Amino acid sequence: MHPIDPLSMAKTHPDSPSQQDEHPDPNASVLLSIVVPVYNEEENIELLYQRVKEVIENRLRVTFEIIFVDDGSRDASWQIIQGLNRRDSRVHGLRFSRNFGHQLAVKAGLDASVGRAVISMDGDLQHPPALIERMVDTWREGYDTVTMFKTATEEVGFMKNFLSILGYKIINFFSDFPIQPGGSDFRLMDRQVVNQLKCLREDQLLLRSMVNWLGFRIAHIPYQAEKRFAGRAQYTFRKSLALVVSGVMSFSTAPLRFVIYLGMAVAGGSFFYSLVLFIKWLTHGEMVQGWLTIVLLILLMGGTILIVLGIIGEYVARIYENSKQRPSYIIQEQTGQTRAARTDPPKV
Ligand code: UDP
Ligand code: MG
Repeated sequence: MHPIDPLSMAKTHPDSPSQQDEHPDPNASVLLSIVVPVYNEEENIELLYQRVKEVIENRLRVTFEIIFVDDGSRDASWQIIQGLNRRDSRVHGLRFSRNFGHQLAVKAGLDASVGRAVISMDGDLQHPPALIERMVDTWREGYDTVTMFKTATEEVGFMKNFLSILGYKIINFFSDFPIQPGGSDFRLMDRQVVNQLKCLREDQLLLRSMVNWLGFRIAHIPYQAEKRFAGRAQYTFRKSLALVVSGVMSFSTAPLRFVIYLGMAVAGGSFFYSLVLFIKWLTHGEMVQGWLTIVLLILLMGGTILIVLGIIGEYVARIYENSKQRPSYIIQEQTGQTRAARTDPPKV
């Protein structure tokens, strides 16, 4: 499955800090890339780095790189990433010119990664670094994608939980590529999968659905999410709603079909109602009075038409967005010189 056995690679390239800078081509030896999107995570970055480093150095003993993607943070996150890069050349940083959102930050990290396997994880320590070992083991068993889904998050309130369940229900009702509730972007992907992901040019990106769309051999592993170490969750209701809309619209045209059914139901209903009125008029000679019915019908029809237009409009907007062919994200700054040379242009 994997042409070069990761285990033997790990043996031939022991990852001692003294040796790693002597490799003529650092790309060739990187087995594992860790991609971390960060948005105002100044208090978490250092600890995350320590934990990831410990797990990989002590338990896996493979060569690795950690790519932090700063999604337009307004705190000291970027300075901290630069500091880490000066201390440890295995840490790289990309800095967006503004906030482009979590999904695109992960995408940028994947685009820049060189490892034979790539793990994406959040920067707030909610995705326990200790699980990296298990994920890599599963990959070595022959899986191409290892998706982690959370069984519980202690911190989450009732409302957020409810909305998240509802969001998954909506996505899975409409979408042709259902996703597992509790899914996040804590995931290992084989190089082959990452290369395919890099080819996808889509702005409204929902990586979880995309990975399912790609196929390959996918393993699902449950885990208990930890509490966010420091700082506040950045996912606002609006951002989450946008994800749900993406999850439905990018993977299915079912809403358009739904609109047709809705139209048929409304048209059928009004036909039936006019029949009733006609019969009443024939039998009782009675004409309906009252503007209330008319007003209600106008409102009902108006509302329905607006909804329908909205759904169609959303698809048109997506066509428009993608037809502009703008880059999905803009990298303003990167750490190190070699990195810039080997990073693909962010054309996505
Ligand atoms: N994040 C990001 N850009 C954003 C929002 C969040 O890169 O606009 C990062 C954030 O720093 C964290 C991860 O995405 O590493 C998950 O974000 P958060 O913890 O806010 O979301 P939640 O845990 O509620 O899903
Ligand atoms: Mg979080």
